[in-house]
Amino acid sequence: MTITENTTGRPTLDSSLVVDGAMLIGGDWVPSSSGDTIDVINPATVELLARVPRGTADDVEAAVQAAERAFPAWRDLPATVRANLLFAWANLIEQHNAELDQIESQEVGRPSWGPPPMAGQLRFIAGQADKVQGVSLPTYSPEQVGFTLREPYGVVGAIIPWNAPGPMFATEVGAAIAAGNTIVIKPAEDAPLTPLALAKLALEAGIPPGVINVVTGYGGEAGAAIPAHPRIRRMGFTGSPQTGAAVMEACAKNLIPLHLELGGKSPQVVFADADLDAAVPAMVQGITLNTGQICAAGSRVVVQRSIHDELVERLAAEMRQVRVGAWHESVNMGPLISARQHERVLGYIDLGREAGAEVVTGGGVPSGYDRGFFVEPTLFAGVSADMRIAQEEIFGPVLSVIAVDDETEAVEVANGTDYGLVASVWTRDVGTAVRMSRKLQAGQVGVNNALGAGVIGGPFGGYKNSGFGRTMGADSVLDWTQVKTVSMRGAVPPAPRTPLRAEQAQD
Ligand code: NAD
Repeated sequence: MTITENTTGRPTLDSSLVVDGAMLIGGDWVPSSSGDTIDVINPATVELLARVPRGTADDVEAAVQAAERAFPAWRDLPATVRANLLFAWANLIEQHNAELDQIESQEVGRPSWGPPPMAGQLRFIAGQADKVQGVSLPTYSPEQVGFTLREPYGVVGAIIPWNAPGPMFATEVGAAIAAGNTIVIKPAEDAPLTPLALAKLALEAGIPPGVINVVTGYGGEAGAAIPAHPRIRRMGFTGSPQTGAAVMEACAKNLIPLHLELGGKSPQVVFADADLDAAVPAMVQGITLNTGQICAAGSRVVVQRSIHDELVERLAAEMRQVRVGAWHESVNMGPLISARQHERVLGYIDLGREAGAEVVTGGGVPSGYDRGFFVEPTLFAGVSADMRIAQEEIFGPVLSVIAVDDETEAVEVANGTDYGLVASVWTRDVGTAVRMSRKLQAGQVGVNNALGAGVIGGPFGGYKNSGFGRTMGADSVLDWTQVKTVSMRGAVPPAPRTPLRAEQAQD
């Protein structure tokens, strides 16, 4: 792949929020210990945006040390002060919304999503910071009190993917530090710029140096070094199941807990009585938003056979309306993130064809795009539940339609993958909605909405191989704490000795 620099030969990202070639350790913007860098490109234009350090295990060690130095003071701050610092961070983010939107759109290569959600997410988390509470416990003696304390782990680690780097960074870092931990986080090598910009704003907001440390780099290098570090006390990981398993293995060796936010193959179950005027645009948006590179993307449509043909026709018509193009054009869908993903998604489209599924629309690279990693929104019909395109996460704008006869079969097919992240049900019948909400094996269920969206403070996470642990809800801050039971007796005068009874004394 040829990376184009602009005519001046310099990287093209123009933002004071990104320090070119530097990452954040202990409040300082530093290169990697090796001096090597990674090119971050705009996947729509294949232009170089910026360079970031190729972090090493030594850099992770330096970051852990910085986080250890910052920890005692951060832990001991009153929770209200920590909350206020998070609110200040959220305010600064909001002031820079337009710039952050541009950075994230360029590095992910997608059309603008409008104001980024990070300020709101952080305000929600900040509101939890001073509500970390224990409970009082009954005791065997009136001289005693018992209670629990919720305490931070210390230095914690996190690894995030590239598909929504800003929100992932805000929710993972926000919850961990709200609880009083200090953190070492590695963003994805493909999209590390929004996280670096957010970290810069955190410093400006007054969050002390060393509380947030961002080590950029590759997964097998800086990434692997974080859970393997013996003084990291807890981990959060968002990414693919394969990498999640490797991170979990490293955590097992060090006997530390973690949460995993992994992939999905989310079903959209459409019953014959569904409001298709609402369902069709929502389902197409759900698979083309971010070019289908969303863990929650509803990538399987499980439809009652009686409306199959009508639905396929309407989905295809809607998909053909999706305008594809670069982030700065007036379009609905951008490119995929990288050449590797491009190859992977096109490979799955071939697999679908080979398995006998019918390409109703899309199925290749849109004409006129010899640069950038574009792929057409693609609809497959005639898909059977066991085909690989119906079982494996494609992470692209590829939708597979599977016909079923009734509710029982719909549940079987919807639950018939290893994943369990999000599931949607489209029906006008409340009874069907209630039964399906209970029967679907997913961490989030949307009734008459795609992506399980629209809820404030909803805990987010997976069933089955989609992971465990929940982010974003009120409990997400508690998850970054450990519980200590305190049993406390005051200084009690010693009880008088019971005199021996006469018969005992004779023995
Ligand atoms: P990935 O697993 O390849 O990479 C994720 C992160 O892990 C990156 O920062 C990467 O550098 C790092 N990494 C890679 N190998 C590593 C190793 N051996 N040790 C430590 N870190 C390593 O995933 P991806 O392709 O970047 O992201 C897409 C995946 O993320 C999809 O499966 C998607 O569903 C999932 N995802 C899940 C959620 C969720 O909330 N459930 C959200 C977004 C994305």
